[in-house]
Amino acid sequence: MRRLERKDMRAFLDKLASAASLVAPVREDGVVVFRPVSSGEQVVLDYVNPVRSAKELFFPQTEVMFRFLPSPVAGITPVQPDRQTVLFGIRPCDLAALSLLDEVFLGGDYRDACWARRRELTTLVGMACEQPDESSCFCTAFGITPGTADGADIMLYPAGEWLGVEVLTPRGQALLDRVLSDGAVALGEIGPPGAASQAGAGGGAGEAGDRLQQEYLKRPVRLGDRLRVGDLAKELDDRFDDPYWEEASRRCLGCGICTYLCPTCHCFLVTDVPKRDDGVRLRCWDSCQFKDFLLMAGGHNPRPTKKERTRQRFMHKLNYFVHRYGRYLCTGCGRCVQHCPVGLDMATVIADLRGVSEHV
Ligand code: SF4
Ligand code: SF4
Repeated sequence: MRRLERKDMRAFLDKLASAASLVAPVREDGVVVFRPVSSGEQVVLDYVNPVRSAKELFFPQTEVMFRFLPSPVAGITPVQPDRQTVLFGIRPCDLAALSLLDEVFLGGDYRDACWARRRELTTLVGMACEQPDESSCFCTAFGITPGTADGADIMLYPAGEWLGVEVLTPRGQALLDRVLSDGAVALGEIGPPGAASQAGAGGGAGEAGDRLQQEYLKRPVRLGDRLRVGDLAKELDDRFDDPYWEEASRRCLGCGICTYLCPTCHCFLVTDVPKRDDGVRLRCWDSCQFKDFLLMAGGHNPRPTKKERTRQRFMHKLNYFVHRYGRYLCTGCGRCVQHCPVGLDMATVIADLRGVSEHV
């Protein structure tokens, strides 16, 4: 691990912006969101997590998948992104969410070309969480921590006047080499003078970097530490008909905010839009919380009431996905906790299902 002085952070970001298209947290209309930026000055560094997750960089709310020509010159032209991108400041929960969506879009026999292309073109610079939000973050419930770097190409660990910089992949190393190439930004050693030469022997810089990382891996997350899910998936095998779903669903407004903000929700709708000489296939986000989500042409709706729709959302994340992929489909990012207008969020539901009182 190396050391980046905090005072050099803007220059570091400027260099990232000149190396590739840079997407980073910015403040817009009073909230923090990921946006393309052209300089370090635009980037917000005092944020907990952007209100909209990193998934939309790889799976936009609306996208053209391909263009088609009608017969007799029938043909399909895929619309593929081609810009090298750096996503700066992604938190451990959103890194974990991308790896969950990799299971869906890249696992098995079918590869989603749009998702795959954007993943290939994007270098991820993660940011460990200095101060998880007390009342909404609960990543540790799912075994993620404020310092979990899985999936990042480079991970940054804030440490007061400086940040630890850990390179995790060859792609991350290539980006860092470009950023440092002209000497305008330099990384220092962590630890006392001469520590770098001791690193190979397990002392000095290596130990100091490990200590910083360990401190983040063990950092408490108040809500998550109370809600550890353990065997909840197994327990839910027998709770499909639990009266809880009816009771909980009465509060839901069916607005879909929870699913749109969630970094792991991935339902979408595909529509062909023909024009006079050609046409496009569009896909856009959908939500299992919308009343007509499963409505069929003949009028049948397999989930006609809020009870079925609420149950679907939570059972999918806490039971069905675990059976299929061996992992929970929630990373405890806390967005639904912060933004569901009626408090029907994942932390509340886990607390209810586990009988943990007063989760906040
Ligand atoms: S659970 Fe909350 S955010 Fe989700 S659809 Fe219902 S009211 Fe909206
Ligand atoms: S269910 Fe809620 S806490 Fe879990 S990943 Fe989605 S938005 Fe975040």
